[in-house]
Amino acid sequence: MKNPINPTIIKNQNRQLIYQYIRNHGPVSKRDIVVGVGLSIPTVTQNLLYLELNNYITPSGIKKLTGGRSASTYVTVNNCRLAIGVYISANHIAVASVDLSGNVTHFQRKRMKFNLSDDKYLKCLGNLVESVKMQAQISDEQLLGVGISVPSLVTEDGEKIIYGLTLDFNNKTRKEITKYIPYNNRLFHDSYMAGFAEVWTNPDIDNAFYLSLNNSIGGCIIFNKEIYPGNSNRAGEIGHMKLSMHSQKKCYCGRIGCFDTMCNANILASHTNGNLERFFFLLEQHDSKVEKVWNQYLDHLALAIHNLHLLFDFDIIVGGYVGSFIAPYMTDLYDRINSTSFFDEKAEDYVIPCKHKIEATAAGAAIRFIKDFIDSI
Ligand SMILES: [Zn+2]
Repeated sequence: MKNPINPTIIKNQNRQLIYQYIRNHGPVSKRDIVVGVGLSIPTVTQNLLYLELNNYITPSGIKKLTGGRSASTYVTVNNCRLAIGVYISANHIAVASVDLSGNVTHFQRKRMKFNLSDDKYLKCLGNLVESVKMQAQISDEQLLGVGISVPSLVTEDGEKIIYGLTLDFNNKTRKEITKYIPYNNRLFHDSYMAGFAEVWTNPDIDNAFYLSLNNSIGGCIIFNKEIYPGNSNRAGEIGHMKLSMHSQKKCYCGRIGCFDTMCNANILASHTNGNLERFFFLLEQHDSKVEKVWNQYLDHLALAIHNLHLLFDFDIIVGGYVGSFIAPYMTDLYDRINSTSFFDEKAEDYVIPCKHKIEATAAGAAIRFIKDFIDSI
């Protein structure tokens, strides 16, 4: 026997269709929506009333129709709810507020040496969240939650760190970290959030592997716009893929030959006193020492991307700190990947530099709350 059609599910699906249509195409008239989503006039009318009554959409003006008539148009109210995202890294705390369209409305980044044992550090974290909340004029009712991106693996419920060796995060809990953040909050794995932000805000990508080239390397598998965490919440931990049997460089995981030891951002920045921007400035000036380091780096990166593409057969987004500088060097990277590929395809078609720069990891943690809210409309 067929499953009976559940009217509530259909009702919710119709509402979602209409809301998403206005969000993606607004300002639009009722007629635009009827044609665009293929629902009846009464269904669209009823849902428009509901959405407007709840302040999810608002009339935005008048549109002239053929035959001299005119109709009201609608747009979504992007600031009816907002979320805040935080990114904790070795030397900085970044905080972003994000509206329902996925746009970062405010962003602050403060230099602060990572130290979860220091109450001052935790207070600073709380103060920064408060400061962005105030700047963005978010009321307690509007705030959906505060997502905290950390360079560690996190339990599925966002309550506890399960593996955090890059910084001293091991076994820390959400409660300890967010002592001074008195709002709904949860922890997220940083690479997952950066990847999620890239794909959620890009209508052209549904499936991708996001390669996070930060001071440590991480990754995120995104399938049908959802993060695939694996059975143990560690899918995409690409930094510890063994790329060399001969390297003597020791990884922070304790082994040698890991991809992390070849392509983390410090491999480059260590040649310019830890300043990655300076590295890319010298590269632009054709500094021969820097060029030599970069050539070797690109070879390793090309090999890793080639392997990733064989495995997943979908887009590879080059992100993280290095990804935010890589756009001018993509042609060189493509050539190196293509020279290792045996399929009749071009890296140009599946390898892309990240769109979001420094704020992406914080924004992604906020977008998790935004997505859940929009799905519940
Ligand atoms: Zn390792």
